[in-house]
Amino acid sequence: SVELVHLTKSWGGLKAVDSISLSIPGGSFTVLLGPSGCGKSTTLRLIAGLEQASAGQILIGGKDVTFASPTERNLAMVFQNYALFPHLSVAENILFGLKVRRVGRAERDERLKKAADILGISALLDRKPSQLSGGQQQRMALGRAIVSQKPICLMDEPLSNLDAKLRHEMRVEIRGLQQELGLTMVYVTHDQTEAITMADQVVLLNNGQIEQAATPHDLYTYPETVFAARFIGTPP
Ligand code: ATP
Ligand code: MG
Repeated sequence: SVELVHLTKSWGGLKAVDSISLSIPGGSFTVLLGPSGCGKSTTLRLIAGLEQASAGQILIGGKDVTFASPTERNLAMVFQNYALFPHLSVAENILFGLKVRRVGRAERDERLKKAADILGISALLDRKPSQLSGGQQQRMALGRAIVSQKPICLMDEPLSNLDAKLRHEMRVEIRGLQQELGLTMVYVTHDQTEAITMADQVVLLNNGQIEQAATPHDLYTYPETVFAARFIGTPP
């Protein structure tokens, strides 16, 4: 589980994240949703430990990690511009993090085989990233998250540069993976459809604050504010 307690991040006078309190149950799929600039990425980066909180707390598995390094937080991340090494093969890209962490070769090969199997990219492992389609590159990025075997996975708009059809396929794939592996997922998007179709819990943000946190059904059926109703697209 991930727990945010009055989490705040200020830059000068601007509160990008403004006293957010939120429970993310272990094994659940939580989507952070909201318009550009509402604080989605900042919240995710705070959870990841890539930004330091100005106030408040972050608990992972009940343990206070507010001042812990990203490594100590033991989570996997997939970002929009997933950093890929163009000169390395697909397999080497997927295994890069494990090599850095000195995971042994046999163990690496085993995890790679399993991940490639799950993602359907076993035939592509010797290629270079430039020789893959957008969706295949995305699967490679997911592969890096899977082989890391971290229980918590953070994704920031991972599908934003894919076309509509691929985006739909990848949504199904990511949700399936999350359930199969029992991952705790925190997923950022500004796309209502993505949030409604993928999430167990949707957290709608506005100006750094939680506008409403609810199941997709409840958010859609019972929006609590005009902002929520407008953003989800139904009258209150
Ligand atoms: P988008 O959908 O466009 O990615 P977002 O919801 O992810 O938006 P954030 O990136 O979290 O938004 O930014 C929230 C606010 O914090 C914005 O007003 C942004 O300008 C501001 N901000 C983000 N990073 C910094 C920074 N390093 N320094 C100063 N202000 C920042
Ligand atoms: Mg963002």
